[in-house]
Formats: sequence, structure tokens, C-alpha cells
Amino acid sequence: MVQQLEVRDVDFDELKRNLEFTASLLEALYTNGTQPSFDVEDDLQIRSDVVPVEVRDWLASTFTQRVQPIRQRLEEKPKFRSIVHAVQAGIFVERIFRKAYSTAMPDQPAEVINCLRDLDRGNFDVFSLDAVSSGHSLKTLFIELIIKHHLNSRFKVPISCLMSFLCELERGYNKHTNAYHNHTHAADVTHTVHCLLLRTGVLYWLTELEVLACLFAAAIHDYEHTGNTNNFHIYTRWVRWSELAMIYNDRSVQESHHVSAAFRLLQDENTNIFMNLTRPEWIELRSLVIEMVLGTDMSCHVLQVKAMRSCLQQHECIDKPKALSLILHAADISHPAKPWSLHSRWTPRLMEEFFTQGDKEAELGLSISPLCDRNNTPVAQSQIAFMEFIVEPTFSLISDMSEKIVIPLIQDTTCSRYRSEFKSGTEVGTETGTEAGTEVGTEAGTEVGTETGQRGLQWTVADMVSFRSMWMRHTEENKNRWRDKVKNGVSHSDDSETQTGQDTA
Ligand code: AMP
Ligand code: ZN
Repeated sequence: MVQQLEVRDVDFDELKRNLEFTASLLEALYTNGTQPSFDVEDDLQIRSDVVPVEVRDWLASTFTQRVQPIRQRLEEKPKFRSIVHAVQAGIFVERIFRKAYSTAMPDQPAEVINCLRDLDRGNFDVFSLDAVSSGHSLKTLFIELIIKHHLNSRFKVPISCLMSFLCELERGYNKHTNAYHNHTHAADVTHTVHCLLLRTGVLYWLTELEVLACLFAAAIHDYEHTGNTNNFHIYTRWVRWSELAMIYNDRSVQESHHVSAAFRLLQDENTNIFMNLTRPEWIELRSLVIEMVLGTDMSCHVLQVKAMRSCLQQHECIDKPKALSLILHAADISHPAKPWSLHSRWTPRLMEEFFTQGDKEAELGLSISPLCDRNNTPVAQSQIAFMEFIVEPTFSLISDMSEKIVIPLIQDTTCSRYRSEFKSGTEVGTETGTEAGTEVGTEAGTEVGTETGQRGLQWTVADMVSFRSMWMRHTEENKNRWRDKVKNGVSHSDDSETQTGQDTA
């Protein structure tokens, strides 16, 4: 173009075409350099013909950082790695509880002990634990897990501090009397993180400090949640300032508050459960916890998933904080990957919280956010879409990631943590035969090698396989339940059965 201009031999049509091309090239370069490189429909793989428009708007505004029109794209099927495939075909080993379960905490009521028997299982009922512990599921569960993983003795956590800290934590969770984001949800996510680490074998990749960070991050991840979405905090400022949006400059508003307020609790020596950590331990734990809790901001979902997928595809080394953030994120959205008896109790709670926000928005004269209109929300379709576009891809990624992490550990039979865990007889039971579907319950150790470490490793592989088949089975079953509701015409927010999660199928 410059040459043409210099010799004054200009073809105006060609010049125009070239200018337009250059402009679009620069625009693309600019967009690439300044915005996250993802495309809503590409990364969520939304098929526009099957997802109602309200649900698409909600997915785009909640799980990505920008809203875009939707195009069609082929679905990617989850892939099984060959080694696991081979194991799936050949080994069906179930670990069972060989010893009677005893809780780590003395003097627990019999009902609590009974509930905690299922601690290592995906069908653990946190609602029952909450009922039998008089509304202290978070406190009961956290103490139990800390002691089970021997973290109280390893890090010299004073039990009195732990009790006081957990009382404060539960109080903060119940500050806004939310239907969903309360201490029971925190207990559920903490339990699920424990289960994910155990069932995938990722636990054996971690140091004790990292396990402590995972459990702590899960327990605090929604501390003092206000019951609103981040977008509500950000966009209501035109009519009413949100203090949190102001403090955190509209960036991960609630998550920044959860982590900051929880660390503030530790400033009091009566509640500082980490008072005996060394300085390097404290620095490492704090950095991990901050990264993990900030990673629960749902608008990071697409970026998080995309980054881990590309890391796996390019055979790069897996970054531990990123892997652990993904595990916490998965636990946070895990109830659709659990039995219907649990999933159907969580959904109406979340919907009620969304609708309460919708009521506030209407009161303030604002437009009602997607999925927040109690008179017109396609609940069943939103659940199906949530499972298809968010939960299943996340769990598929967790399964792939875990295999990539754990298989080298399995091959390295000198892995000391593995050997010592299994030698010391830690009871890390998995689902029963009926729960896991295809697995045949076998007395631990009768089918595979006699050497203790080797046996533990094989169980872990069997666990990894049953983990994948289990979440796939639950999401499929749950989607079918919601599909039946659509068929029977009870799929909207104004249908009482959808609100209570009752089963009409
Ligand atoms: P958190 O707010 O940290 O608990 O992150 C969980 C978020 O995931 C919720 O706030 C919802 O936005 C979303 N979520 C979890 N479960 C469901 C569900 N069943 N249906 C729709 N959204 C869900
Ligand atoms: Zn949460």
C-alpha cells in the first residue's frame, strides 16, 4: 500500500480491501493480547438449539468473563487412558472396611459416629450429619478430617483454638441466613475435597501441608457469603453501593472477601489454628489457600478448564496450585455428580437463594438476573445444561488430570507416602459394589499382589476407574430425572415439585 501511494499508482478498491484486512488483523491481535483467549460456545460447547436462552445467558454470565452469541459445535466425548482401560477390563477390586469405624473425636453421640462411617464415600449424607450434630456439620466434619489425616499432631494445632475457630467460622457462614451458601454447603465441599483427593489418588501426590491447605480452603471458601452473585454486587452499585465491590474493585468480589475475612479470624490468638506453623509453612499455606479460594470464582471456570486441558494435551508438568484449585472448584459444583437423593436437596436450596436475589433486584427496579425470576425460570433445563456444559467437562478433566498425576506414582513403587499409608492400615474405603455399579466387592488384598505397597497402588487404580464411572452414572441419572420432569410438565420455578426437588419420575 505504501509503495502504491509513493508512486501515486493507487487502486482504490484494492487499497480499501487491504485497509479493511489490516484493521481486522490488528483488531484480532489486540483482542488476543488483552482478553482471555476463549470463546463462550467453543469452551462450554453449548448447542444453541437445545438450551433455552435464559439458561445460555446464565451460563455465559456466570461461568465466563464475557457474554457472546452462541454457535454450534460438536461435543467432545470423554477419553479413557489406555492403562486405565486395561485395568477396568481386568481388575475389579473393592476396598472394604475391615475394621469397625471409630471416629477420631472421642465422646461423639452414636448418631454422629454412624453418619461418619460413610466419610470416605461419595454418597456421604451431610444433611444427616448436620441434623445429628445439632447444626454443627462443618465443625464436626473438619475436626474429624484434620485428625484422620494426622494434621493436628503434625502441625501442633491446639484443639481449643480449633474449636473456637470453627465456632466463629460457622457463625460467619450463617450471618446472612442463606438457603444454600451456609455452613452445610461448606461442610459438603470440605467432605467432597477429601473424597476427591482420596478416590482419585491425588492425595498421595501431596505433602501434609498441601492436604491441610486443601481442607482449610474448602472449609472457608464461602465464609460470610452474602447470598448474592458477584454480578449483583458489581451492578447494583448504580442504585446502592456494594461495600464489597468497592473494596475489591469488582474483581472476584465475594471470593476475595471469603479468604480475607477467614484469614482475619486467624489474627486472634484464640482462634489462630496455625500458630505453630513455621514461617515458610505459613507462607506456603497462605499462598495456596488464596489461590484455591479465588479459583472458586465461577467466572474463572472456562479459563481454568482450558488451561488444564492444554497442559494435559501438551504433556506439560502439572502445576500443583492449579490442580488443587481445580479440585476445589469441582467439589464446589459437585452435587449434580452425586446421587439424586443429595442433588435433589441442593438444587431447590440454590434456586431459593437465586430467587431471593431476583426479588431484591425487582424491588430495586433492576432487571432480574438469569435464573433469578421465581415466576419464570426453567429449573430442570438449567440443571441439565449445568451438568452437560459445566459439571461433566470439569469432572472429566479431573479424571484425566488425576490419571496423569497418579499413574507415574503407581509406576514408582518407591513412593514412600503410598507405602506408609497402606502399611499403617488407613481405612480409605470406597463405594460399595452397589454404589459403584460395576465393581465387585472383594476382600481387600485377596485378588492382587501380596506386597502391601503394590496392593495399595492397584486399589488406587481401581478407585480411579470406579470414580470416573460413578460420577458419569450419577450425572446421567440426574439428567434423566430432570428430563422426566420436563416431559411431565413440572420443570419450571413455579412448579412446587421442582422447588422441593420431589421425585415425580
Ligand atoms: P459457590 O458460589 O462458591 O458455592 O460456587 C458454586 C456456584 O456454582 C453457585 O453459586 C452457582 O452459581 C453454581 N452452581 C452450583 N450448583 C448449581 C446447580 N445445581 N445449578 C446451577 N448452578 C449451580
Ligand atoms: Zn461454594
